Amino acid sequence: MTLEQTHLIVGAGLAGAKAAETLRAEGFDGRIVLIGAEHERPYERPPLSKDYLRGEAGREKVYVHDEDFYTANAIDLRLGRTATRLDTSNRELELDDGERLRYDRLLLTTGAEPRRLQIPGSELEGVLYLRSVGESDVLRERLDHGGAVVVVGAGWIGAEVAASARQRGLEVTVVEPASVPLERVLGREVGAFYRDIHTDHGVKMLLGTGVEAFEGETAVESVRTSDGRELDCDLVVVGVGVQPRLQLAAQAGLAVDNGILVDERLQTNAPGVFAAGDVANARHPFYGERIRVEHWANALNQGPAAARSMLGQSAAYERLPYFFSDQYDVGMEYSGFVRSWDRVVFRGDPAGREFIALWLARDRVLAGMNVNVWDVNDDVQALIRERVAVDDRRLADPDIPLGEVAQLEKGGVA
Ligand SMILES: Cc1cc2nc3c(=O)[nH]c(=O)nc-3n(C[C@H](O)[C@H](O)[C@H](O)COP(=O)(O)OP(=O)(O)OC[C@H]3O[C@@H](n4cnc5c(N)ncnc54)[C@H](O)[C@@H]3O)c2cc1C
Repeated sequence: MTLEQTHLIVGAGLAGAKAAETLRAEGFDGRIVLIGAEHERPYERPPLSKDYLRGEAGREKVYVHDEDFYTANAIDLRLGRTATRLDTSNRELELDDGERLRYDRLLLTTGAEPRRLQIPGSELEGVLYLRSVGESDVLRERLDHGGAVVVVGAGWIGAEVAASARQRGLEVTVVEPASVPLERVLGREVGAFYRDIHTDHGVKMLLGTGVEAFEGETAVESVRTSDGRELDCDLVVVGVGVQPRLQLAAQAGLAVDNGILVDERLQTNAPGVFAAGDVANARHPFYGERIRVEHWANALNQGPAAARSMLGQSAAYERLPYFFSDQYDVGMEYSGFVRSWDRVVFRGDPAGREFIALWLARDRVLAGMNVNVWDVNDDVQALIRERVAVDDRRLADPDIPLGEVAQLEKGGVA
C-alpha cells in the first residue's frame, strides 16, 4: 500500500485554483490543500477594474469555480489562512494559526501586490489601491457618490479605472510621469492612441508629471503634482505597478530575483517546490531567458502547467505572453514580449479605432496588438513564433490576411 501523497498550493488566486483543478483532472487522488490569505474563494481580477467595478456584473461573475467545486473535488480549501513559514528540507509548511502541513509537492502561487506610494499624505483616507474584490467594492461605492477622482499612474489598471470612473460620470484626472499612457510597454505611438481615447471621453491627462503629495485633514482633498499644480479631488486611485509576493519564498531560501526563479517546468531550486502565475519568473524556451508575466492568461495556463509538473509530467511551459484590456468601447488583445523594438507597423488606422499594431526588430515581428479587430490573435502569435522575415508593406496591407503574410514569406514568394 502506498501512503497518500499531499500536494499543497499556497495562494488561492486564479493560478492556484486552476492548479488544484488540474491535479484532480490529471488523476491525482491524494490530498490537495489550497491555502488562501483572502476570505473569498478564488476569483478572477480583470472584472474588478471593468464591469464589476462599474456595477454592471455581479459577484458570481468573478469566481473561478462554483462554490461546491472544492468539496466535490475533495480540495481542502483553507481561506483566511496565510502560510507563514516554509521549511524545504523537512518539506513542511506552517500556517498563521500554527498548523504545520507536510507536503510531497508544493506550489507557490502567491501572486503580486500593488506598489505603495511613500509620499506625504499617503495614509489619508480616500487614497485607494485596487487588487482585491473588497477593494473594488470600496472603490465602486466611492464612484457611486460621484465627484472628482485623480488616478495616479496610466498603466493598465490606472487606465481601466479612469475609463470606468469616467463611464460612471466622475470628473477624472490622470497623472502620469511618462509622455503617454503605457509608454514603457507600448511605446509612444500606441500610447498616444490610449491618451486620445481618454481625452476624447473627457479625461484630463496630465502627462510628463508626477505626484508630490496628497493633502487633506483626515481624508484626501487634493493632489500636489511635481509641476506645482493642486488638483482638488474626492478620491485618489493609485496604480503604479505591482511587485511579486516573495516573502515566503525568500524566507525559505528559494532563489528569487524579480519573482521566484523557476525553470521551464516551473520548478524552483528546492526539490518538490514549484511556482506559477504573477509570482513566477520562469525560464521561457522561446525567449531563452526568464520572464515574469503579470497577466490573467499566464495565471490561467501556468497554474495547470505547474500542476502537471508536480505530477511528474515533463512538458515545458512555452505559451507566448498574452493579455487583454477593455477601456470604453475599445477592446484589445496583445501577444508577445518585447523589451525594445525598431518600429511599429500599423494595419488599419488607429484614428478609426480598428487596427493591428505590430512591434518589429529588423524584419521580425516581436509582438502584436489587435484593437477592436478579432479572431487574429492566432495569426499574430504565429508571426511571432515562426520568426520569419516579413515585409512591412505586406504586413500593413489589410488585403493580405495576416496568416498569409508569414506563409508567403516562408515560401519566398515576393
Ligand atoms: C484590477 C485588476 C484588473 C486586471 N485586469 C487584467 C486584464 O484585463 N487582463 C489581464 O491579462 N490581466 C489583468 N489583471 C492581472 C491578473 O488579474 C493577474 O495576472 C492574476 O490575478 C494573477 O493571478 P495569480 O493567481 O498569479 O495571483 P493573484 O491573483 O495575486 O493571487 C494570489 C493569491 O495568493 C494569496 N497569497 C499570497 N501570499 C499568501 C500566503 N503566504 N498564504 C496564503 N495566501 C497567500 C493572495 O492573497 C492572493 O489571493 C488584472 C489585475 C487586477 C488587480
